[in-house]
Amino acid sequence: MNTSDSIFHQRLKTKKIIVTGFASGIGLATATRVVSEGAKVALFDLNESASRKALSAISAEKNQVRSWTMDVSNETDVKNAVAEATEWFGGGIDVLIHLAGILRGSYLSIGEVTVEDWDSVLEVNLKGSFLMAKHVSQYMVPQKSGAIVLTSSGAGVTEGSSSYSYGSSKGGTHGLALTLDRHLSTHGIRVNEVLPGYVETPMMLSAVEEALLNTGDEAIYEGTTVCLSDAKDIAAVIAFLASDDAASVRGTISTT
Ligand code: NAD
Repeated sequence: MNTSDSIFHQRLKTKKIIVTGFASGIGLATATRVVSEGAKVALFDLNESASRKALSAISAEKNQVRSWTMDVSNETDVKNAVAEATEWFGGGIDVLIHLAGILRGSYLSIGEVTVEDWDSVLEVNLKGSFLMAKHVSQYMVPQKSGAIVLTSSGAGVTEGSSSYSYGSSKGGTHGLALTLDRHLSTHGIRVNEVLPGYVETPMMLSAVEEALLNTGDEAIYEGTTVCLSDAKDIAAVIAFLASDDAASVRGTISTT
């Protein structure tokens, strides 16, 4: 569906939204969708060249989007980027959509998982979610409103994962989302967490390639690649969660 022709056109017109991980996959689809619904959007990603390419692919009005190259696992980066985005917004933040994440170690046995890989995945996925929520909520609490959308996964929440570090980081993000909801709902902040199913993105495709490399098992590769969802469908759910249409929606949302 062309969202510019849809009933959702301009649904997010007054919203100031931060999207992390916008340069690829679900983040790019979501940034494109919320921009098409009229939001003013601050775009965060670590990958500078991918960000430039993604930015040129998003069709936006003048001054509707701006990007920051930053690392969600680095507190100084997060604090500065959130402060600069808020200033660019003209004050306040309505919505955080936090999608930045990494997956390493698909189908490695626990003995093969290195501490370096474990730490890097926990740093980006779990600490990054904590830091983004921490710094965005500094602006949302005084304004007594806001919506935070974190991204975990079925992996580590409703089932196991191909990767020890990934499943553990997403299980931790699930606990963080529940805890944020408990503490921030009293300040008028709505917290949701999305659990995407298997979605066709560079992360998912490289994870199944890694699984094939680590196991040599073609069945895992073929079984996963035949049932991948379109990132645009997850973006539609996230745009809804960012909108006032989701005013009474709280908690964990699973998608296929
Ligand atoms: P992707 O690899 O296509 O995109 C992730 C983006 O995050 C990239 O642009 C990358 O540069 C950015 N990023 C990575 N580390 C960063 C950091 N430290 N700081 C800032 N940006 C950083 O991945 P995707 O598949 O679109 O995944 C998006 C989110 O959805 C992730 O949190 C992922 O764990 C989650 N998820 C994906 C799937 C799936 O099937 N694709 C399933 C469940 C959950």
